[in-house]
Amino acid sequence: MSDSSNADLIPADFLAILRCVNDAHPRDDGVLRIVGETLECTVCGYAYKVEDGIPNMLWDEAIPPSESTPASP
Ligand SMILES: [Zn+2]
Repeated sequence: MSDSSNADLIPADFLAILRCVNDAHPRDDGVLRIVGETLECTVCGYAYKVEDGIPNMLWDEAIPPSESTPASP
């Protein structure tokens, strides 16, 4: 855990083809970025866990923005 950028989490070309599965926005808009050990949607903020290099893209297991980013009141 050196810093917040974790480019080795999954290959960049793999990341480039993944899209957030949230129906609230067009699928093509759901570009993901690596945040810690998750892939976070740049549109809706939902995050997907990555286990052993395999992203878990199940919507039922996506992490809502309120839980992935600790809110400070
Ligand atoms: Zn999204």
